[in-house]
Amino acid sequence: MKYYNLKDREEKIDFKTATIKGQGKSKGLFFPESIPPFKEEFIQNLNQYSDEEIAYQCMKDFIGDEIPSEVLKKIVSETISFEIPLRKINEDISVLELFHGPTLAFKDIGAGFMSRCLSYFLENQQKDVTVLVATSGDTGGAVAHGFYDLPGIDVVILYPKNRVSPVQEKQLTVLGKNIYALEVNGSFDDCQSLVKQAFSNEEINNQLFLTSANSINIARWLPQQIYYLLALKQWQQTENKAPVICVPSGNFGNICAGVLAHLRGLPVEHFIAACNANNVIPEYLETQNFNPKKAIATLSNAMDVGDPSNFVRILELFNNEFEPLKNKISGYSIDDSKTIQTIEKVYNTEHYILEPHSAVAFVALGQYLKDNPGKKGFILGTAHPVKFPDAVENAIKAKIEIPQSLNTLMKKEKKTVEINPDFEELRRFLLDKN
Ligand SMILES: *Cc1c(COP(=O)(O)O)cnc(C)c1O
Repeated sequence: MKYYNLKDREEKIDFKTATIKGQGKSKGLFFPESIPPFKEEFIQNLNQYSDEEIAYQCMKDFIGDEIPSEVLKKIVSETISFEIPLRKINEDISVLELFHGPTLAFKDIGAGFMSRCLSYFLENQQKDVTVLVATSGDTGGAVAHGFYDLPGIDVVILYPKNRVSPVQEKQLTVLGKNIYALEVNGSFDDCQSLVKQAFSNEEINNQLFLTSANSINIARWLPQQIYYLLALKQWQQTENKAPVICVPSGNFGNICAGVLAHLRGLPVEHFIAACNANNVIPEYLETQNFNPKKAIATLSNAMDVGDPSNFVRILELFNNEFEPLKNKISGYSIDDSKTIQTIEKVYNTEHYILEPHSAVAFVALGQYLKDNPGKKGFILGTAHPVKFPDAVENAIKAKIEIPQSLNTLMKKEKKTVEINPDFEELRRFLLDKN
C-alpha cells in the first residue's frame, strides 16, 4: 500500500516511511492510495474469528509485506491485549468500553500499535529518534507508556498547563527516563501548532530525527478501525440491524477510522460526531462552512480542539462531496451543564458511571435516536471515569473507587519543563535536550 500526501498528491510513500515521518510536505496528512474492501464472508461471520485474527485481517492490507505477517500478528495481539466489551446501558444505547488498557483511555490502542511498529522499523537504525507529540489529555500518557524506556527513542510531549486532569498529567509527567513533558502556557491548539512548526523547521530536522505520534500518524489512525470490528462482532450476537455509532470527537481521528471501516464494508447505519462546546464540525455539517476557532476549555478536555486535524481525511473519504458526507454523519454540540446532568441521570437511573466524554456522546446519541425512532446504537466509551474524578464525583455525588495502580501513580512526583507558546522556546529545548 502506498500513501499520498493530502496537500501534495505527488508525494507518495510506503507505510514504513509514513509511520516514521508522521506528516508530509506542507504539513499534509498521509492517506491510503486505495480503500481495501473487507471480504463479505469475513464481515458476516465476525463471531467465527478470534479478536486477534480480526485485528490482523483489518490491518494487513495497509501494511503489505513491510512487516512480516508473524510480526504483525504479534503486534496486533499485544495492541488489543485487554478486554473491549460492548455493554448495554439501556434498551437502545450500549457502550463500547475502550478504557481497560494501560492508561485507561482508547488512545492506548492507536499508541500501542504505533509504538510497536515504530520500534520494529527502527530496530537497526543508527540515529536516535525523537517522537514529538501534542496532547489535549490522553494522547500523552498513552504515547509515553507505549515508548517508555525503549532504546534509541526519546519522547517529547507538549500539553496545555492546567487543562488536563490530575491523572492525565501524572500519566505523562512522572515517567522520566526517555520521556520529556513540556507544560505549555496555552491551549491544546497552541501545543499542536508548536509541534507542526517543529516538523517544518529545517534546523531541527537536520539535527534530530523527528517523528510524530499524534492521531495524524497513520500508524495511530488506522488501527482504530479494529475496535469497530470487535464492536460489531459483539453487536451481531443480539441485534440484526446495523448500529448507529456515536463517537465523542475532538481531533476526529477516531470517528474517521470508523468511517474508513464502514467504507470497507462494515455495516453502520449512521455515525454521530459528538462534540462539546467546540462545535466546528457540527457547525460545518449544518452550514457547510468550515470555521476553525480557538479552543474553549470544557469538562471533556480531550475534545477541546478548535481546528480538528483529521477532518480533511473524512472529507477525502467522501471525495470532498458534502451531500454523501452529511447523509452519513451528524454532528452534535453538547455543553458542560448538560454533560453533568447526564452523568448524574444515567448513574441514578441506569447505575452506569459515564465520564464527561462518553456523557457528551450519550446525550448526542439519545437526541438522534429520539428524532429517528426504531434505531439503536452504541457510544464509544473513550476513557475510564477515574480519569475525571472531580467532574464525575460532583455529578453523581458519590466517591468513585480508585484502582490501586492509580493511587501509586498519584503519589509520584511530576517532572516537567514549562514553556510559553513560543516556537523559539520549543526550538531551544529540542536542540539542547541531549
Ligand atoms: C482523544 C480523546 C477523544 C477524541 O478523539 P479524537 O480521535 O481526537 O476525535 C475523545 N475522548 C477521549 C477520552 C479522548 O482521550
